Amino acid sequence: MNNTYTIVNVAVNRPLFKEFAYKVESLIGEECIGARVQVNFAHNNQVGVITKINPPINFDESKLKVAKLLDNKGIISDDIIKTLEFGSKYYQYPLGQCFNVAMPKLLRDGQKFSYEDIPALKLASTLDESKVAKIKSLEQKQILEILKTGAVKRKELRERGISSASENALIKKGLVELFNLEVENQKFFESDKPVLKEEPPAPNFEQQNAILIISHQESFKTFLLNGITGSGKTEVYLRVIENVLKKGKAVLILVPEISLTPQTFDRFYRRFNVPVSSMHSALSDRERLDAYIDMATSKSGILIGTRTALFTPIPNLGLIVIDEEHDSSFKQSDTFRYHARTLAIMRGKINNCPVVLGSATPSLETIYNVQRGLFEKIDLTIRAGGALLPKFELIDLRNEPLTDGLKTGLCESLENEIGDETAKGNQVLLFLNRRGYAHHLVCHLCGHVFTCPCCDNFLTVHKKNQRLQCHVCENFFPLPTKCPECGNEELVEQGFGTEQVCEYLEHRYPDIGVERIDRDSVTTKSQLETKLKRIREGQSQIMLGTQMLAKGHDFPDVTLVGILDVDSSLFSDDFRSQENTAQLLTQVSGRSGRGKKQGRVIIQTHHTDNQLINQLIDPNCDYLTIANGLLEARKNMMLPPYTSQAFLLCNSANRDKAFSFINDLSFKLSSIKSKFANLAITSVMSDKMEKVQNRYHFHMLVTSLERKTLSAFLIEVRKLVSLDSLPNDVRFAIEVDPITMY
Ligand code: ADP
Ligand code: ZN
Repeated sequence: MNNTYTIVNVAVNRPLFKEFAYKVESLIGEECIGARVQVNFAHNNQVGVITKINPPINFDESKLKVAKLLDNKGIISDDIIKTLEFGSKYYQYPLGQCFNVAMPKLLRDGQKFSYEDIPALKLASTLDESKVAKIKSLEQKQILEILKTGAVKRKELRERGISSASENALIKKGLVELFNLEVENQKFFESDKPVLKEEPPAPNFEQQNAILIISHQESFKTFLLNGITGSGKTEVYLRVIENVLKKGKAVLILVPEISLTPQTFDRFYRRFNVPVSSMHSALSDRERLDAYIDMATSKSGILIGTRTALFTPIPNLGLIVIDEEHDSSFKQSDTFRYHARTLAIMRGKINNCPVVLGSATPSLETIYNVQRGLFEKIDLTIRAGGALLPKFELIDLRNEPLTDGLKTGLCESLENEIGDETAKGNQVLLFLNRRGYAHHLVCHLCGHVFTCPCCDNFLTVHKKNQRLQCHVCENFFPLPTKCPECGNEELVEQGFGTEQVCEYLEHRYPDIGVERIDRDSVTTKSQLETKLKRIREGQSQIMLGTQMLAKGHDFPDVTLVGILDVDSSLFSDDFRSQENTAQLLTQVSGRSGRGKKQGRVIIQTHHTDNQLINQLIDPNCDYLTIANGLLEARKNMMLPPYTSQAFLLCNSANRDKAFSFINDLSFKLSSIKSKFANLAITSVMSDKMEKVQNRYHFHMLVTSLERKTLSAFLIEVRKLVSLDSLPNDVRFAIEVDPITMY
């Protein structure tokens, strides 16, 4: 071996299932596995990751190109490399591209693995008490209260829902100083502060049981914490986390983006003296890298974040929690199409630490794994703090008069109930998973329906903005006044959305505040906070919203939940729609009756004899009973989780190109298929929406009884499709374990 350079294997960001040998012009060892290098690959400079030192090579070393070392030791930890290696094989996605998804953008761009300025606030060294006494703003008081325990990053205050205006006001008054946080070298477990900042509530019997079982588990094991909404799952996590931190180990908590509310952050920041880091979509690239470094260097002991936080190096990882494990946001739907639950469990296994999956409505996959004895289920069956579970009722729409209200989604009986509840000072939550004013617009004379020019999709009417909008590509057009086909001016709006229901509610109950919460009316975190605040403070008594409202929020004064349109989700051709409907309705219902008063859930439907609806309203039938029934049906139909599936996906702006490419592949596959027992592959089909953003989409679905067979077959697919040399303008992808049908 030559002693002036080291040969290394590098994973580069290209669609190639192999690593490439380069030489680094210094002597490095195993400590540099996971370090970044800058390489020239196919005439492009790019950042790659070292995966092997001194690999065996069988060609002339002098021909090797030089890689420039960017880190003097590995920054991507060994367990993450192993997790990604597993993920690359399982999801059939090139390792170098997996690294690319796993790294924060600034690292991907080759920037230094080190901090820059971190703006923070602290109390002024001499505090003018007379000025403090004069402060009226609650938020300013809150800031002073928080700063009493020490300096705090501005990022933390923002996450706790505090506005920068209040911070600036205090700075101006000279009560608070802005400074650049000295990055301490102290590791979180070296601090002499106690782990707990506040005394937690005493757990109830079931919580205590869960805390004991999980805390006793030192090695790898996956638990399902199956607790009804409001049963105190988060409180269980906090207690188990406390025990892990006390052993000097760190924890990773994955949550859906939607539940990263100030309340969630507050619970963690308030509970622990141990520094908490977070990762979510509202962070800047810089803040994301800072959080990454905080964790990688053990300055923080807790990371709470969304899907990609999974790939953050955490030395001495003692626990992984996935809250709302059934949530679809844990699945990435493009590039590296991984499920964070699958990879988190693998990471737990690699680190030999326990993994806790929490949910009131676990996924069928997880329940199946409990049945197979792979996961241990722990139940929380009562609501913490003694709140009662809501009662379900049905309204048979067939018996309701066809009022103006019903045309906009609200029947007379439900209107009366809303009136009664709000008159008693209670709050009402109405759920409709369709935004916009009207679902589509049709010409009364010729029947022309306005569709998106780029997608096979109806355009939704948005009245406030005077637009027609495509909810797939988000393109929008001015609201038309006449039909482009026949010139007729009578255009009929069909199908109601939240905007229309909100307009009706405001007109029907002019004295009661109505808050609409959906992606159109809420575009920033602070807008959401303002609306939630008006609800919490009782200024508004009715809230109407989409999924945004379904999860993660606590509304103690809501006593009535109205489900406006369940019918449209009952007749879907996706075999997961029943599971999803049961989860969504159980979650929405869980928003009700969280306080002292018993809540009710009213479902409007034209299909009172539908089995799923009847199970949902049956007090003797809980979510798990429904789920077990659905699993039985999946088993009989040979559907996941009893089989493993993968989509072969293809699209192009040129329909013929896409079609002939995948047809050709289908032909080639039919000849190798016979080598694989118990494997089925569909013929080529158009996606449900063939045209999306001017690209034409086709697919084949592969189903196998055995995961191993599926993986082996997909490797053959990959060999047939060289990702690096696809025909011009044809895109191809493999999606393993899809959670939606194409
Ligand atoms: P989940 O995560 O299951 O929805 P949470 O942990 O958020 O439940 O608990 C619901 C509510 O009950 C919260 O307001 C929480 O503070 C409270 N709570 C949880 N456990 C207890 C307990 N043991 N004693 C009193 N209140 C509790
Ligand atoms: Zn479109």
